[in-house]
Amino acid sequence: MQSEEKRTRQSVDLASLEPAVRVKQLATYGAMVEVDPNVPPRRYYRSGLEMVRMANVYLEEGNLENAYILYMKFMTLFVEKIRKHPEYTSVPAQVKIVNQTKLKEVMPKAEKLKQKLLDQYAKEHQTYKENSSKRRAAEEERRKQEQEDAKLAQRLQADENRRDNVTSTPHLKHTEQWAVSPSAPPVDGIVYPEDWPAAQPRPAPLFRPDPPESAAKPPLNRESSNFSGLLTPLLARAAERPSLRRVRAPSALLARFLRLAAADTARNVECCGILAGVLERDQLKITHVIVPKQTGTADSCSTNNEEEIFHYQDQHNLITLGWIHTHPTQTAFLSSVDLHTQCSYQLMMPEAIAIVCAPKYNETGYFALTPDYGMQFIANCRLSGFHPHPNDPPLFYNVNHIHLDETAPVEMVDLRR
Ligand SMILES: [Zn+2]
Ligand SMILES: [Zn+2]
Repeated sequence: MQSEEKRTRQSVDLASLEPAVRVKQLATYGAMVEVDPNVPPRRYYRSGLEMVRMANVYLEEGNLENAYILYMKFMTLFVEKIRKHPEYTSVPAQVKIVNQTKLKEVMPKAEKLKQKLLDQYAKEHQTYKENSSKRRAAEEERRKQEQEDAKLAQRLQADENRRDNVTSTPHLKHTEQWAVSPSAPPVDGIVYPEDWPAAQPRPAPLFRPDPPESAAKPPLNRESSNFSGLLTPLLARAAERPSLRRVRAPSALLARFLRLAAADTARNVECCGILAGVLERDQLKITHVIVPKQTGTADSCSTNNEEEIFHYQDQHNLITLGWIHTHPTQTAFLSSVDLHTQCSYQLMMPEAIAIVCAPKYNETGYFALTPDYGMQFIANCRLSGFHPHPNDPPLFYNVNHIHLDETAPVEMVDLRR
């Protein structure tokens, strides 16, 4: 969580920029999306729909910047980048049509949003300019005061010197009585600034102008430090990279998923499900576990009809937040195949989580690929099936952005029948 003070300072820094520059930066951020030829294009189309879903939520909640960036990402992806995918022509026409319809909906929205942001930034910039001219005036005032103080000090010093030189001259003694001296009490009991002897410290001025702002930091590059362009997670939000949004999961989903998997577990077969949910006030909430038609073995599990999952998600406005699967006889960890599966989830959604249930060991793991190393490594690994990966440095870790919610309800959707 960003502190209020930090937020204010950052907004002050950004407000010094011309409104058009700030909007351009958001657009640049939105354009930072690359298409990986090894990820099937259909997945990008899926993610595109979820992107718009999330942008709409940000817009409704008044988070204009995050909404704008996601709309720009969507447009960059589908007006331009996806066409370069080697399998672009294999995308079914009806999928492209749905996407085109979304584009027509998003473009005017983004345009309107841009105008809103320009207006907002113009206001902030105006306030910034007013404040900084006030600051300059105060600074000028302070400098003048300092000069006057210096002059006064000189004058007093000169007087002092003169006094020292003339103390022996009785003729001038009378004059000295009228001169200001540290020991002479002020006539009216009020200490005037001129009464302050040069040698003593002056009281601090009541008004101190703020120290000058440190140079405005360029707000970009917040994301690029940890990810190559290729690995820019599609659904990342604008600010505070690489911190992750919190994912809230109903704790009831574990027991309920294990119950659905029980028959498979009993015959030593894995079972998997999709964690789906919503974005709400910048938190991701798992609300559904969708168990698709699938084929499992003792150490693997693959979904059969993804379109059915997509259809359900579209009907219920759900975004993909990760996946859950059982290890009927093994402990909770991510196998090499699991790592590749998780990579494709995490590429689309940086907060995506893999939950692994090991009922035999009464163990549950909440995992993700390490964003700085594991993602890079697995995205570049071209092997398939079970194969060894080096495990130092670690490719995955126990996530801490998941929060189990004791009271939240969960809907189990079993598509296997
Ligand atoms: Zn596994
Ligand atoms: Zn691999």
